[in-house]
Amino acid sequence: MKHVDEFRDPKAVQTLSMEIHQIARHPWTIMEVCGGQTHSIVRYGLDRLLPPEITLIHGPGCPVCVTPIELIDTACELAKLPDVIFCSFGDMLRVPGTHEDLLKIKAKGGDVRIIYSPLDAIAIAKTNPSRQVVIFAVGFETTAPAQAMAILQAHRMNLENFFVLVAHVLVPPAMESLLSAPQNRVQGFLAAGHVCTIMGYDMYEPICKTYQVPIVVTGFEPVDILEGVKMVVHQLEEGRSVVENQYSRSVHRAGNLEAQKIIDEVFEPSTRNWRGIGNIPNSGFQLRPTFGKFDALQHFQHRIHLTDAATSPASECQSGKILQGLMKPSECSAFGTQCTPDHPLGAPMVSSEGACAAYFRYRHSSVVRQ
Ligand code: SF4
Repeated sequence: MKHVDEFRDPKAVQTLSMEIHQIARHPWTIMEVCGGQTHSIVRYGLDRLLPPEITLIHGPGCPVCVTPIELIDTACELAKLPDVIFCSFGDMLRVPGTHEDLLKIKAKGGDVRIIYSPLDAIAIAKTNPSRQVVIFAVGFETTAPAQAMAILQAHRMNLENFFVLVAHVLVPPAMESLLSAPQNRVQGFLAAGHVCTIMGYDMYEPICKTYQVPIVVTGFEPVDILEGVKMVVHQLEEGRSVVENQYSRSVHRAGNLEAQKIIDEVFEPSTRNWRGIGNIPNSGFQLRPTFGKFDALQHFQHRIHLTDAATSPASECQSGKILQGLMKPSECSAFGTQCTPDHPLGAPMVSSEGACAAYFRYRHSSVVRQ
């Protein structure tokens, strides 16, 4: 028996579904803010096991999807420089910029390399001292510690050919931004378990109080997600709005203090533009001044054309609405026709954590039949 089997147990799933049916008395809209949870919900059809009162909507839970188009354009400009080795996680390569993506730059001869850890980029920088190595640092709080460790290592090694294009984003400010938007539909959140494993969950208390929404830290397996939904519905029906922890096998209130210390040593909060949402104060990381020498934007600013224009993705693409939970992928007119994983019009169809990719992978045939 595998460790995850008990969290995919069909009987437990059925029992939880019945319990949610029993306690749901009013219509409630609940958002998950994690692409892994979105994929589990769609893959296992968990939303279809819920009573009609409960609507699950998908939020901005995919860091690749929320990376703004101007940063993709900047990445493409950097990758074109002949002395640059541009390192990125694979998901970013096919995310469309204004005119091209990193894969096209690679096809035209740009030295774009897929890495699996930020430390891979350190190794590349060490073995290529005559080249400039840039890493595209994309991710939520979960991947920030590994990125920070790589930067600390580069600092200790006095690496002079290692640079970081920072695109890290933070989840709680994005949740607040959604809640304060006039079109907000969210009445309760499933918070991302992996983010809380690093950061803990104290930071959600003020959000619960200010916006009167329950937030339940939730894991990724079917039983986790249905338990999380049940806990949110329970609170909503009782008129409560507090933080609860469904994912206690991995998450503790304070989180991983060592990881937080490393993040805090290297990064400081900054305003970040989220694709489809806009600028959100304190929702991203930037390098602290001590580590400014590793900032790719600063180092290459005179060699590339930087744009801060909020250019739009393809006009058919509704990724802004998808990322705010205002629309489901299957409601986009381009879904499965002009937009597919082979020909993506927007990041949510490219990324392995994107909502559109999840719907295409698990629901495309049923959506087409409707
Ligand atoms: S299906 Fe494609 S075009 Fe539509 S919102 Fe998703 S990524 Fe954009």
